[in-house]
Formats: sequence, C-alpha cells, structure tokens
Amino acid sequence: MSVTKPSQEKPGCGDLSKELGAFRTYLKSNGYRVTREREAIAEAILRNHEHFDVDELFMELRSRKPISKASIYRAIPLMIKSGVLTEVYMEDGHMHYEKAYGREHHSHLRCLNCRRIFEFSAPELAQVEKRIARQEGFKSLGHKFEIWGLCSNCQGQIAPAKGGGS
Ligand SMILES: [Zn+2]
Ligand SMILES: [Zn+2]
Repeated sequence: MSVTKPSQEKPGCGDLSKELGAFRTYLKSNGYRVTREREAIAEAILRNHEHFDVDELFMELRSRKPISKASIYRAIPLMIKSGVLTEVYMEDGHMHYEKAYGREHHSHLRCLNCRRIFEFSAPELAQVEKRIARQEGFKSLGHKFEIWGLCSNCQGQIAPAKGGGS
C-alpha cells in the first residue's frame, strides 16, 4: 500500500482554547464540574503534542502543581469521551495517548528498539474497515492499525529484547 505523508509536524498548535472549550462543554453538558484541577490536567495534556503516558504527564505536572496520578487517571476517560484525547497504543502494559481534537485519523509505526513513534495515514485502511464491517454486519465506529518493528535507524542494531503486542 502507499503510505501518505508521515505527519511529524506539530498539528493544532493554536487550538488550545478551542480544545479546552470542547472539554468544558462536555463536562458541563454531562453534569461534571469544571474544576481547576480538571482544567490544569486538560491544559497540560492539550499542550502536549507528542504521544505520552500517564507517568510522563505526572512528572511534567508535578513540577508545577500538586496533582495526583489518580486525578489524572480520572480525567483521562472524560477527555476521551469529550473527543479531545485518544488512546494510541499499549507499551509495557500501559496506554499511551495523544490529542485528538481537530486531527485527522492516522495510524502508527512503533519502533521496539528506540521507541520512537511514526505516524502515517493510509486511506486504504478505512476501506478495509468498511468492507469487513459490512461483511460481518457490523456498525463500525473506527479502527486502529499499528505496525511494530524496527525503524530504519535501528535496523542492523541488536534485535529488541521484548516483542510487541498490544
Ligand atoms: Zn528505532
Ligand atoms: Zn499519533
């Protein structure tokens, strides 16, 4: 298949207020309070343009605000439901996330050696999703496609110690 542009640019840098607005709107319309803590977590997450996990976010937040990991774990599902955040991939037993607001659907290549993540979009995948869903009489709402292995820099180096799997 032909892989279209691997988007490594920083998308949606100027959309922070819109993204926060979308999150606030979700909270209010679903009976959740818009607390300072939730806003601080959301803002830190939405400023982050990389793929991240809770530990990384916690370390970053901790240097500025007394926010517990538990609060982060509680805020994340709300952010996912509000559509500003999405789950990306599992690594070492925990989930990694990225911003979703205003971003096009894309898939990931994950290097098991250097752990870099590469993004790509391939419209064929949407067609495969539709075809399989149709065959199975399934109403699809999305799909995930991930390739793990060794990036071009890491090929030729020692094989990774751990297999992938997600
Ligand atoms: Zn690599
Ligand atoms: Zn991504």
